[in-house]
Amino acid sequence: MPLPFPPTAVGSNAGLGLKRGPWYRPKPQAPAPGVTAFEPVRAMEPALLTGKRGSKALKKAGYEASVPRCDNCTHYRHAQIKLFNSLPVHFPTRCMRHLVRVEPLGCCDAWAGRNGDVLEP
Ligand code: SF4
Repeated sequence: MPLPFPPTAVGSNAGLGLKRGPWYRPKPQAPAPGVTAFEPVRAMEPALLTGKRGSKALKKAGYEASVPRCDNCTHYRHAQIKLFNSLPVHFPTRCMRHLVRVEPLGCCDAWAGRNGDVLEP
């Protein structure tokens, strides 16, 4: 007996309502124009202002990208691991002017920028 072509619902597929059998997988659909794979994640976040609108929003908010802090002070040293007699010694973030441990986002009156800036008295 010749098999029907194209394959139709026969045998075990007969009662499943499948026209092409369980082996059939629909081809992945091309995303709509302008839609990316990250679209579901982006949809949860508000759209960011970019370009001129972003610049205007930052100016209106009085935003400063780099403010005085220990992290950009000339006296600040990052955490390091140095070898002494082939043994590693950990040095925390520190201020070489006051010789104390400091936090990178902290600041004091003696802040001095790497370009010579100082805080106004
Ligand atoms: S404590 Fe003051 S002087 Fe020391 S690193 Fe921080 S800002 Fe600079």
